[in-house]
Parts: sequence; C-alpha cells; structure tokens
Amino acid sequence: MAAKSQRNVPKAKITNDSVTNDSVTNDRTASQGQWGRAWEVDWFSLGSIIFLLLCAPFIVYYFIMACDQYSCALTGPVVDIATGRARLSDIWAKTPPITRKAAQLYTLWVTFQVLLYTSLPDFCHKFLPGYVGGIQEGAVTPAGVVNKYQINGLQAWLLTHLLWFANAHLLSWFSPTIIFDNWIPLLWCANILGYAVSTFAMVKGYFFPTSARDCKFTGNFFYNYMMGVEFNPRIGKWFDFKLFFNGRPGIVAWTLINLSFAAKQRELHGHVTNAMVLVNVLQAIYVIDFFWNETWYLKTIDICHDHFGWYLGWGDCVWLPYLYTLQGLYLVYHPVQLSTPHAVGVLLLGLVGYYIFRVANHQKDLFRRTDGRCLIWGKKPKVIECSYMSADGQTHHSKLLVSGFWGVARHFNYVGDLMGSLAYCLACGGGHLLPYFYIIYMAILLTHRCLRDEHRCASKYGRDWERYTAAVPYRLLPGIF
Ligand code: NDP
Repeated sequence: MAAKSQRNVPKAKITNDSVTNDSVTNDRTASQGQWGRAWEVDWFSLGSIIFLLLCAPFIVYYFIMACDQYSCALTGPVVDIATGRARLSDIWAKTPPITRKAAQLYTLWVTFQVLLYTSLPDFCHKFLPGYVGGIQEGAVTPAGVVNKYQINGLQAWLLTHLLWFANAHLLSWFSPTIIFDNWIPLLWCANILGYAVSTFAMVKGYFFPTSARDCKFTGNFFYNYMMGVEFNPRIGKWFDFKLFFNGRPGIVAWTLINLSFAAKQRELHGHVTNAMVLVNVLQAIYVIDFFWNETWYLKTIDICHDHFGWYLGWGDCVWLPYLYTLQGLYLVYHPVQLSTPHAVGVLLLGLVGYYIFRVANHQKDLFRRTDGRCLIWGKKPKVIECSYMSADGQTHHSKLLVSGFWGVARHFNYVGDLMGSLAYCLACGGGHLLPYFYIIYMAILLTHRCLRDEHRCASKYGRDWERYTAAVPYRLLPGIF
C-alpha cells in the first residue's frame, strides 16, 4: 500500500485572523512521493475487484432487462425463475441482440464526439463571461508532471444538443425516441467499446505509456486491469482518455438519453409527466454544471488521482449511461404524475442539494486557485498549510481549507450530491425499488470514496492531514459519520 502516515501528531491550532490567513504551524513532514493509487493489493480489494469484474456487466443487464421484460419489477425475473415460470434461456431469448443499426448509430455517436473533442478548439470561453475553457492545466501528478487539457466539453454538449433539438423540431433525420428504441442493442455496443478501451489502455500502459513515470504496476493482473496502469493515457498530445470517456460518451449522453425517454413517454402515453420533467431538469442542471466547471473537474479524484482502467473505461461507457438514467427509463414504463406538494418537495431537495454540492466544490476550487487569498462565507479562510513529496523527490506545498463547508465536514460536497441523487429517485414515487438504485449506489460510492480519499490524503500529507482531521472530525455528517 501507499506510504504510511506519520505518528505523534500535535493538536491542530487554528484561529481566526482578521488580516491574514491563519495557518497551523507546519513541520513540513512531506510523505515520500508514494501517494497515488496502491502499489500492493490486499485480499479484500482483490476480492471486490474480481466480484465487480464478474458481476457489474450482469448487474447492468439485469436492470435493463427487468425494465424491458418485467416493467421494471426487480424481483420479477428472480420470482419467475424460482417458480419455474421462466428459465434463464427464455429471458435471454427475449433479449434484443446487437443490430447493424445500433452498431452504426453508436459508431457515428462516438466518432462525432471524438471529432468535437479533438478538432474543435473551444470558443465558448471567448464569449461566455465567467466560463473557463480552452487550454488549461491539470494537477501535479505523483511523478511531478503537469498535463495540459483542451477544455471544450461545454461546446461539445451545446452543439450535440443543438443538433438534437434541430432534428426534433426541423430536420426529422431520426426519431427522438431512437435511443430508447435501440436501448438494449446499444448496450452491447457500449460494452464492446468499454472492454476495448480498457484492454487497450492496459496494453498501452505496459508497452507504450504516455508518461512511464506515472504508471503503476501491482503485480496483480486483475487489479491492474480494473484500476488501471497508466495515470493519464493519451493518444497524441491532446486526446486524453480520462477527460474524453468520462465526459463525452458518458455525461453528454446522459441528458440526450433522458430526452429520448421523455419523447418515448409522450409517444406511449400522450404526454410528459411532471416526474419526467423533474428528472430531466434536475439531471440536466448537474450535467451542465459539470461542463461549465470542466476545468474544476481536472482537480477532482477521477482525473487527478485515479488511473485509467476498466473502472473508468467500462464504467464511463456502460455503467454511467445505463444506470444513472434509470429514473427516466422507469418513467417510460410508469408515467408517474406527482402531486404538487410532492413535486415541489422533490424540486427543493434537488436544488438545495445542488446548491451545497456546487458551493462546497466552488469554495475548495476558489481557495486553491487563489492560494487562500479569498473570502469564504465573507471571511478570510482558516488554513492548514501542508507539504508533500512527488516521486521525483521534489517537495511541494499545498493548503487545506478549514472554513465554509470544508469546516463543517471533510466531504460535505458529497452530502449535496447525495441530496440531489435522492431527489431524482423520489421523483419516481414509491411504486418500485429500481429507480432507488441510484441513491443506494451513490451512498456506497461516496462513502467508499471518503475512505479511499482519506487514505490517500493521509499518505500524501502525513501529519498535516491528521491536523485537518483533528480540526474537522467528521467525514460526511457532523455528529454521525
Ligand atoms: P473532492 O472534490 O472532495 O476532492 C478531494 C480532494 O480534494 C482530496 O483528495 C484533496 O486533494 C483535496 N482536499 C480534500 N480536503 C481538502 C480541503 N479541506 N481543502 C482543500 N483541498 C482538499 O472529491 P471528488 O473528486 O471525489 O468529488 C468532486 C465532486 O464530484 C463531489 O462533489 C462529488 O460529489 C462528485 N462526484 C460525483 C460522482 C458521480 O458519479 N455523480 C462520482 C464522484 C464524485 P489534494 O491532493 O489536491 O489535496
């Protein structure tokens, strides 16, 4: 595992200062440049990884098949098989296979996104006030490299959606229900891409890595495949796997998929329900926020800590577009119309969750960008100065924010995200468990992320991190966890 953190930590001493930023005395005990992802794999991690590699594709299939064949009743297939009403082979026989049309559509879709990503430098930052796009720098990697990125996701999202609406209202090249109508055949295409890109990234990491110093090999094939070998695999100077796969086939697709589900609901039931509108609007806010803040995303765990393997490659191609959109899919089969108080409650929960998510993330981003020379909740922020070492032996200095939401809990941004996630699920009413998968998954993902991130930060910052945990004792919810 990564380098151990130091012991015998003095208590945090943080005070408010009206003139300058406060900082806790720092003994500059940087950890030894081994703070990226694990070098050795314990049995629990290995077991979880093999479980996920084997089961995750079937979990996705099960959810989508349950909607297709059992109107989203998750227990339907199990009950049918247990009572002998159906065999696995019957269910499989009713599952639509991959089709030429789906393969063409998917190829066209991915090619279009690749072109938007690689061939169209960002122009949005030239006319949208406050938007940061164009060429931007990522965080320092464990090997001490700083990558440059072409940030043009907002532009890609806008052009893609412009084309979608132009087609729906003017051009009529294809039906807006096209995604729903080919949903399972497209699942096979997404799987092919997900496996292909993860396998390619693994081979590339071994034989022609972009930055060899940032590769990590654990000696365990499954771990390397799942969690990735290369940190920032690229083709050429600009095609960055992590930025492209997470953003484009994953997140640009998210809002299009929801729009297609809304179109299908209208086609089948004659109208679009308020629940479908809420899911479309709340998730669109989250997606647009992601692209508006794509530069900020360069500093999140996905980009600046995770290596690119099956977890990100397959996850972005299959898990994200198929399971993050379950609410919209469910509403095609169950056109829930919420009472006004229920709808308003869902909207408020979603908006308050979004507010916490955005403000917390913004506070950290602003704090880091200005090196602490900013106001958080109207005051000079409290700071813990820290240092760490990259693999090249260089010592770097950084700061941890102890004010605003980062003084309430160490990952309060996750709480906002969880509130938003719960709102999407509650929009689907109480008829079935399936749409609640998202909040269950996000709760597990983000709790695990807290632990994973804290392990990494403890390795990276040593005693300085322990000062932070002493100053802000709770991870997610003050007094609880
Ligand atoms: P964070 O944005 O919380 O970033 C964690 C990193 O921030 C740490 O590794 C550390 O990095 C730095 N940091 C931690 N504490 C402090 C502090 N007090 N002051 C300054 N810097 C600090 O985590 P994520 O990247 O996981 O999440 C970003 C957002 O994305 C979250 O809001 C999350 O909810 C969302 N998200 C959504 C997912 C989804 O599937 N919908 C999945 C994952 C995340 P450093 O090494 O730079 O110090």
